[in-house]
Amino acid sequence: MSGTYDQHLTCADCGHDFVWSAREQDFYREKGFQQPRRCKDCNRARKERRESGDRGGDARGNR
Ligand SMILES: [Zn+2]
Repeated sequence: MSGTYDQHLTCADCGHDFVWSAREQDFYREKGFQQPRRCKDCNRARKERRESGDRGGDARGNR
């Protein structure tokens, strides 16, 4: 018996539903992470943008 099931979450970036699998939930809980707010695509896009990205563009996102 595993009390964990896949969950459907809504991505904060693209607004699409994505599956947060039971296995991932275990992983997150183990690490003490909060539940993800973005789907994998958006997560990856964000990460790539950050890594390949702009220098000096820290946390200034104001427009
Ligand atoms: Zn997304």
